[in-house]
Amino acid sequence: MRQLIHKLYSRGGLSRDEIVYLLARLDAGVRKELYGLADRKRREKYGDKVFLRGLIEFSSYCRRDCLYCGLRASNRSAERYRLKPPEILDCCREGYGLGYRTFVLQSGEDPWYTEEILVNLIQEIKAEFPDTALTLSIGEREDRTYQRLYEAGADRFLLRHETASPKLYQTLHPSMSFDNRRRCLKVLQEIGYQVGAGFMVGLPGQTADDLADDLLYLQALHPDMIGIGPFIPHSRTPLSGAAAGTIEDTLAMVALARLMVPDALIPATTALGSLDSEGREKALKAGANIVMPNLSPIAVRTKYALYNNKICTGDESAACRHCLELRIHAAGFSVDMGRGDSLKSFQVKRLTASQSAQ
Ligand code: SAM
Repeated sequence: MRQLIHKLYSRGGLSRDEIVYLLARLDAGVRKELYGLADRKRREKYGDKVFLRGLIEFSSYCRRDCLYCGLRASNRSAERYRLKPPEILDCCREGYGLGYRTFVLQSGEDPWYTEEILVNLIQEIKAEFPDTALTLSIGEREDRTYQRLYEAGADRFLLRHETASPKLYQTLHPSMSFDNRRRCLKVLQEIGYQVGAGFMVGLPGQTADDLADDLLYLQALHPDMIGIGPFIPHSRTPLSGAAAGTIEDTLAMVALARLMVPDALIPATTALGSLDSEGREKALKAGANIVMPNLSPIAVRTKYALYNNKICTGDESAACRHCLELRIHAAGFSVDMGRGDSLKSFQVKRLTASQSAQ
């Protein structure tokens, strides 16, 4: 077992069978070693820095019907809200004043925000805060829209692949296409975005083979960011009675992702913190290096309910930032409020510069 983990640390690769074998034999000792090596790898790549991103959850409307998500269109009891562009800009202003240099704009798939509205919003944010990076997490759109949003100034795009199992994907996303999700990720990369993919751990029916495929897919895609969180049931969804993913399984996947895609930025997700009060600190110690404090207005926070018992819904943005900073320091890391671009994006920039110099 230890040999396998050390092989992964030094060479970065395991076969599907080896990953499945490893997942079946993770006892406390092996886990400790795995987390330790993932932490070492992340320190080699990014040092002890944890990058903070200001998260603005700007709309809880969603046209999709993902079986696991509290925002799904069929959830008639979900409370819906939309922040208008001036309100989103106000959140950015508050965040900028608190020191954030990355804003993540996330929402359900809400067509109210047309291409035009988003282009104008992005241009306004980038004009007012030119030294910030802007990340979008708004789901699937036309290729042309992705292109226009990039040209307007968006730098990054988060679109989790959710699961690498075509069968499980189709069951969980009745009106969506497994192939199109992956195609979108490729298109986003080709346009030039720094791209984030990722998946949930502990989905009903998910197997160790599926999780191994998630990791192998990420290794092949080589995204800039990797979001991994436990599935947590929401009481008003068809999966309300399902068990949540475990903290241990999620941490193991975070550590394996760090070893298999060493230069990725990996968030210690809110879902991990919601499942275990120390979940985000544990993730940082297992290879994660991003935390995304909430900048949304307090009045709407509880309405962005993807799952039950989501944390950080009641704190002022300033208090949220302060609390996370204390937690990060206590866990043995330092806070970096810079843009925090991925190492891959610097390599791409260098390559493009040397090609155009030739
Ligand atoms: N609509 C955008 C999209 O599809 O990419 C972004 C918003 S979506 C709500 C953000 C992420 O929340 C999803 O990619 C999914 O992995 C996660 N999520 C949704 N419901 C969840 C649940 N019940 N437990 C854990 N994570 C969940």
